[in-house]
Order: sequence, then structure tokens, then C-alpha cells
Amino acid sequence: MRPLSPEFRAYAWAPSTEELARRAGLDASQIVRFDGNVPPLPLPSSRPATVARALAHVNEYPHGGYPELIAAIAAYAGVEPENVVLGNGADDLILLVTRAFAGDGDTVAIANDPTYPLYRVAAGLAGATIGDDDPVLTFCCRPNNPTGSLDPLPAARPLAVDEAYLEFSEDDGVAGLIEDGVIAIRTFSKAFALAGARVGYALAGADVAAELNTRQAPLAVATPSAALALAALAAPPDVRPTIEERERLAEELRALGFAPLPSRTNFLYVPVDDPDEVAARLLARGCVPRVYEDAIRITVRDREDDDLLLAALAGADAPAGRSVRHLRATAETALRVRLRLDGESRVRVATGAGLYDHFLEQLAFNAGLDLELEGAGDAETGPHHTAEDSAIALGEALDAAVDLGGRRASVIELEHDPGLAKHVLQSLADSGRLCIHVESTGEDPHHVAEAAFKATGRALRAALKQDGSLVPSTKGIL
Ligand code: PMP
Repeated sequence: MRPLSPEFRAYAWAPSTEELARRAGLDASQIVRFDGNVPPLPLPSSRPATVARALAHVNEYPHGGYPELIAAIAAYAGVEPENVVLGNGADDLILLVTRAFAGDGDTVAIANDPTYPLYRVAAGLAGATIGDDDPVLTFCCRPNNPTGSLDPLPAARPLAVDEAYLEFSEDDGVAGLIEDGVIAIRTFSKAFALAGARVGYALAGADVAAELNTRQAPLAVATPSAALALAALAAPPDVRPTIEERERLAEELRALGFAPLPSRTNFLYVPVDDPDEVAARLLARGCVPRVYEDAIRITVRDREDDDLLLAALAGADAPAGRSVRHLRATAETALRVRLRLDGESRVRVATGAGLYDHFLEQLAFNAGLDLELEGAGDAETGPHHTAEDSAIALGEALDAAVDLGGRRASVIELEHDPGLAKHVLQSLADSGRLCIHVESTGEDPHHVAEAAFKATGRALRAALKQDGSLVPSTKGIL
């Protein structure tokens, strides 16, 4: 093999969630990763149905490549298809651009320090060294990982600008400069929530793009991944809630005495005196930040998750009470449940199942639960699968948090049913191993069903109450 420089260090991955859970003495479901800079959930478009067609042809090569995806990327980025180069994640394009421009003995410049480590790795693999003296290529991460800053663009050319976090920056980026020696490198891993699919792209002047494609692997993107990317582009994400949550999280961190750097991304760089100690403290509570020499980097997730991290940073005791995180994924639906039995009726059910989201919210509210139930299902076939799986997911979470007896003899009598109400309650009872007897009468199907859900919630509240006078029914683990 062609030897690498003795100083070369390969890219180092963070440990797996299972490994971190083992170190913390927690269950893997209790680990919340604040170190990946990815959204907490996939987009609604990332469902099994999206890849069904690709799987039906997975025995075949995608002859001719992905002209439809390339056209959609070009339209999204405001360039022509001939300006687009596909890759297996932005990382693949960083490696491609580097080996296209740099070889043995060349110098590659890197604009920021600290910055994303792969430019250094890519230069090392190409046999080049890092420096500012007459570079054959300059890398700039904009906005910058890990600091989150959006710095002025270097004048150097050729210039590769890593725009992995562009969508969060509220900046136009460098797509308009591709005829001026600038190459934009982008990804579906961040705002589009497809990190596992590994799809990235570069935007370059037509000649440079052609040269890059000449040097690229024949088919760098898998067909299911291309299908996911295409579906994501048809309904791009709304990043505003993440930006708002970033600002809230920064504010809360400042209130705790930290000084996060201003960020134009979906993460915050927080200088601390002893990052390893802070990270160990956070891990004990299931929160995983990224550790730097004199800082931690925190991915902005959502209010519920970010509050966990804030509480852990504040040194507050772990909230008392029984709580559980649960994921249910089937061919039709993907649903995430965060449940606290001893809650304050802070409830949000958002699965797209309309009326049934509303009914489950009423049930949880009346039961005094804190519940976040979110995700998506195959809404194009109607609410059936999504409503049913939501109830099953909630039931499974309840069952993980508390033993409600396990006798399955529910009697659910609704004088009128708007459609799936009885089935949803039955599904909840079955998967939660709880026994529901409910009878609801009236004229309007919606009201009859809603009353049944509310009454079930009230009964659940009583069943969950711990007054110390009875044989404890919880499993004592949460
Ligand atoms: N560039 C930057 C700045 C990143 O932070 C990352 C991911 N951590 C990447 C590129 C890699 O993205 P991808 O998943 O598309 O390979």
C-alpha cells in the first residue's frame, strides 16, 4: 500500500448509543444524543412507502443514474443539473474534491480552527499537507462546525465551501459563486434529517462538476437513499422551530452562567473549563454532548429533550417519577413516545391522525400524564394505521412504565363511533395490558368517543396514583 504520513489520523467516530448506555449504566432508550447535529426525528416523507418502489427494483442498477434527483437538487439550489455532483454524504464529496485537486506534496488550506476534521483527513489521504503557503485548494466550513459561526468567505480560489448547515443559517450560501472557482458541498444529513441515508451533493461550475463526476464512483448513492432525498426535496423542512429552539436553549444556558457562542446552525458551542467532567455529568443523566478541548457542542433537539440537558447541566436532581422513552416503527408508521406518568398534563400528540390525535391528547391530559407522541404514518391510506399504531405505541410505553395488571378483558361500548374510536381504545388496552371498561352514550359520534377517551383518562389517573397504601403496582424500575 502507498504509505500515509506518520502524522495521519483517521476520522474517529463517537461510540455507539449501546456502548454509551453501558458506560452510564442506563438503558439505551434513555440515551439522548446531543452530539450528532441531526434532527431528533426523520421528516414525514421518510417512511417505508417512500422506498417501496426502490425496493421493488433493488435487484437492478439505477441505469443512467439519478437525473430526477439531480434536477430536483438543481431546482432547490437554483443552479443547472450540469452543476450538480452526487455523493454518498457530504463526506464523500469532501474526499472527492480533495483528491481531484490535491496530490502528493501539495498543500491544502483550511480556513477555520477549530473546524470539521474531515478536510484534514481528506488532505492526508491524498498525500497533501495542511498549510497556507500556495494551497492548491482551500476548505471553508460555512457556517462553521463546531463554533456555529458564519464567517466572511475567504478570497482564496479554488475554494470548497462546506455548507452542511446552510439551511439553518438564513444565508443564501455560495451557489451563486460556482462560476468563480467556488464549490459548494451540501448534505441531506442535517436539515433534511437523512444522515443514515448518506446523500450529499456538490455544486460547481459545469467544467469542474464534469471533472468531479469523472473522478466519482460510478453510483455513489443507493436507490432507496435517492428516493428518500427526492421525497424530502418535494416537501423541504421548516427549520424555523429549530432556530427558535436554538435561541431559547442559548438563553437558558446563559441563565445558567454559560456563554454559548452565537450560532447560525442547529448546534451550540459552549466553552467550559473541564469538558470531560461536564460530559461525564451529562452522560450520567443520559445526555451525550460532543467534547472539545475547551468546550462542549450541543445539538439543538426540541424543548423536551433540551430541557433534560439543561436540568442535567444545572445539577438538578433527576425528576422524580416514572418516565419512559419509546419508539415504535412498523412498515406503515414510525412513532416516538416520551411519557412521564407523574406529569402535569403537558400533552402533545402529533402524528397526522387528526381526530385520534385529539382523542389521545384528551385521554393523556385527563390522566395527568406528560406525553409527547409524534411521528408519521401512511396517511394516504387514511388514518387507520397511524391511529392504531399511536394507541399501540402509547400502550407499549405505559406497559414499560407501569404494570397495570395484565388482565385483558376490556369492554368498550360506544353508542356511536366516528370510525376508529373503539378500535383505538382496544388497541391501547391490549398493548398497555390494561383492562378498560367504558360505556359512552349520546348523539354525536365525536362527543361520544371523546367522552370515552376522557373517562378512560380519568380512570387511568386513579389507577396510576401512588398513595403508598396499596401493594405497589409499578415494577419499581422507573
Ligand atoms: N460537513 C460538516 C461540517 C459536518 O458537520 C458533517 C457531519 N457531521 C458533514 C460534512 C458530513 O455530512 P454527511 O453526513 O453528509 O457525510
